[in-house]
Formats: sequence, C-alpha cells, structure tokens
Amino acid sequence: MAGSPANALAVIGAGVSGCALLAQLRRLGWTGELSVWETGRSPGGRASTRRSRRGPGLRFDHGAPLFNISSQPAPELLAPLLEGGWIEPWPGTIAQLDRDGQLQPHPGDRFSDGQLFRGRGGMDQLCQGLLHLAGARVERQFGTLVRHLVVTATGRWHWLDGAQQRLGEADWLVLSGTLLAHPRSRRLLGWDEPPLQPVARRLGDPQLDRTLAAIAALHHEPRCTLLLPIQADHGQSWRDLPFRWLSFDPGAQQRWDLERLSIQPFDDGRCAVVAHATAAFASKHLDVFGSGSTVAGRRTSDPTDAQEEAMIRVLSAALQEVMERWISPSERGGSPCQLMRWGAALAQPPGLFAELMLCPQSRIGFCGDGFAGPGFGRLEGALRSSEALARQLMATVEPISA
Ligand SMILES: Cc1cc2nc3c(=O)[nH]c(=O)nc-3n(C[C@H](O)[C@H](O)[C@H](O)COP(=O)(O)OP(=O)(O)OC[C@H]3O[C@@H](n4cnc5c(N)ncnc54)[C@H](O)[C@@H]3O)c2cc1C
Repeated sequence: MAGSPANALAVIGAGVSGCALLAQLRRLGWTGELSVWETGRSPGGRASTRRSRRGPGLRFDHGAPLFNISSQPAPELLAPLLEGGWIEPWPGTIAQLDRDGQLQPHPGDRFSDGQLFRGRGGMDQLCQGLLHLAGARVERQFGTLVRHLVVTATGRWHWLDGAQQRLGEADWLVLSGTLLAHPRSRRLLGWDEPPLQPVARRLGDPQLDRTLAAIAALHHEPRCTLLLPIQADHGQSWRDLPFRWLSFDPGAQQRWDLERLSIQPFDDGRCAVVAHATAAFASKHLDVFGSGSTVAGRRTSDPTDAQEEAMIRVLSAALQEVMERWISPSERGGSPCQLMRWGAALAQPPGLFAELMLCPQSRIGFCGDGFAGPGFGRLEGALRSSEALARQLMATVEPISA
C-alpha cells in the first residue's frame, strides 16, 4: 500500500460503542479517515429512541432508558458529553414492586448503582453527542446492512451489501456489534455462517480465530418492551406516580412477566411508558420479531403477527393489573401500544477479555458491551470498551500527517 495512508478506519455499527470509538479516536488525535455504517435509520442501537407516529414529538427510549456509571474514574467521554448538554443526570425516583403489589425501597442493582444519566431529550442524544465529538468529517451511512466482508490481497477491508455490491473500504475495520461474527446471525437473518468466519479461515490469524471463538460463545438474554403512548389528557396520572422507574422483584416478575417500567414524561403533558418484559417471557417468544423492528423489515416473511398481538394482550393485561393500584383503567390511556423485540439485549457473563479487542495482524478490532470489566453488559461497558480500543489503536497504528 505504498503511498496510501494506512489508517482509514471504518466502524460497523452506530450504537454507543461504535460512536464512542469514533469520538475517542478523534479526541486522541487519529488523523486518518473515519466512517460508520449502520443498518438502523439513525444512531443508538440498543440505546436508541423511537419516534412515534401517534403524535409529533412523542418518542420512546425503548432499549436502555437511562444508564449508570458505577465505577471510577468515569469514562473520559462522560465529561464532554455532559458539558455539551447531550446527556444529563437522571432526576427520577426508583421503587420496587413485590409479589403482593406493594412498593418497597429499591435495593439497588447493576443498572442503578452509582450515578444515573439519560440522553437530554431522548437516549439517542448520547450517540448524537458522541458523533458530534467525532466531528463533521466522519462519513456516516445509515440504513445500510453490511452483509459480506472481504480482505483484499493488500490487506484492505471491503464490506458489501446483500447484492455483493461494495459499500466501502478501509485499512482497519472495527465491529461494534457481534452480528457479523456471532452464529445468531444464522437464526436471525438466515445467513449460512457469520460473515467474518470465511474471512478468518482465509486469513489464518490465530488471534482472530481466538476472538471469533470467544464471540461465538458469548450469550445474550433477549428482552421485549411494550410501548404505550400516553396523551396529555391522561398524562397527569402517570406523572403523579411515586416513581419514574418501577423495578419488579423476582416474585413480581413471576406473577406479571414484567421486569421494569419506565415512565418518560414530556414538557407538554404527554408521557411515553415503556414496560420491559422478563427474560423468561422474551425467551418463550423468540420467533416474534416485533413488526416495527429493523430486523423484521429485513426478513423476507414474518408469519408471527397474531403471536405478536397475543404477546401485546398478555403484557397489557399484566400492566393494567399492576397499575390499578394507582391509575383506574379509564384514566390509563396508552393505546394502541406496540411491541419491540430485542433478540440480543443483555450480554451475559463472563464476557470477552480485553486482549481479544484488537487483532493487529488482520487489522480488525472489536468493541461493545460484551467485553468483561466495569460496566459489562451495560452502556458503561460499551463506553469503556471503546476507550480501551481507541488507546490500543493509537498505540498500534502509525500516524500520518493530517
Ligand atoms: C431493553 C433493554 C434495556 C436496557 N437497559 C439498560 C440500562 O438500564 N442501563 C444500561 O447501562 N444498559 C442497558 N441496556 C444495555 C445497553 O443498551 C447496551 O449495553 C448498549 O446499548 C450496547 O451498545 P453497543 O454499542 O455495544 O451495542 P449496540 O447498541 O447493539 O450497537 C451495535 C450496532 O451495530 C449495528 N449493526 C450490527 N450489525 C450490523 C451490520 N451487519 N451492518 C450494519 N449495522 C450493524 C446495530 O444495528 C447496532 O446499532 C439495555 C438494553 C436493552 C435492549
């Protein structure tokens, strides 16, 4: 590659880890071209915000509704995000519901320990802020599913769409989600094998083989969320609740199939309410993709509409039973509601070792919440993994003059 800058880097995935990597590389002085490729219509991934067709301005934080920083020092990107007004401390109250429907003080858990934050005006502002920190020169491609990966004879990465058309090329590739490397892509999208697998066979890089094997063993729990749009005439009863986050203890989870309730009020009196079903409930319905999900749109057929409606009925009835303590059915509002399905919602321990993050011989890196360490399986871990990968890349890749 004589004469060409050898540090153009592309990130597949504009979730928090992909956007954080771009931001941190810029902060550390990366001089090469940067680009990001995302199948969703906008950045955010599992921390995205869904705009509702039920009214202008109505939006749901339907994945992570907030995030916590549980260990110090905080990720380096936190301060510029706060200073730029992209995120803010979460001002709400958390309570816990027991099996008898009684409210208890929340005992704290891995999603609430430490300091709590949210995107200002929606969780997607976290990724928007990270992309802002990455600068205007980052090429951004949304609505683009990367289907195939190729390494040329000179070691450059190419990525292609489903019709084998080349989308882009770079010297370094970073996968911020596991889809291109994890066997779940077979079940999810009907692919023969994870797209990175044939490339790894050809490259014969032992470190990449180890990383692929570790990613294949990574397990994620599924979740699904029920989204209720609450118009202003019903909004006050939801705003008056003694919590903004209701967590269900194990007995309550068994009784109602619900794990968490997130109340997201707007200045104009409306509310978005998001009810998170338990892992057990989501696992029972793995074949239902949620008609509004990006994946459902990518699948050739989805015969599960009736099942989806049945799931909505079960979860709505459970929610109604829970809420009757505070809100009568006539004051509840919240229909029609929608189901969102997350097939790989929460990474399960032990997670990937940091040594697997960068394969310098193959010029490929990995980041995301699946790396072991503080914040594993959460947004904090996604931020930390990207900061760690950015450090490793800066130490490995020779700079070129800007
Ligand atoms: C319901 C739910 C509740 C949660 N609650 C919390 C919480 O309270 N606190 C907390 O800290 N965390 C929570 N989490 C976890 C948190 O959302 C994740 O840890 C975090 O968002 C992971 O970010 P990431 O960048 O590693 O992965 P992702 O957000 O999954 O980003 C990967 C991105 O890559 C894209 N992508 C993948 N493959 C391709 C491809 N082939 N082509 C193009 N694009 C591709 C995906 O579309 C996605 O946008 C929750 C998650 C869910 C689902």
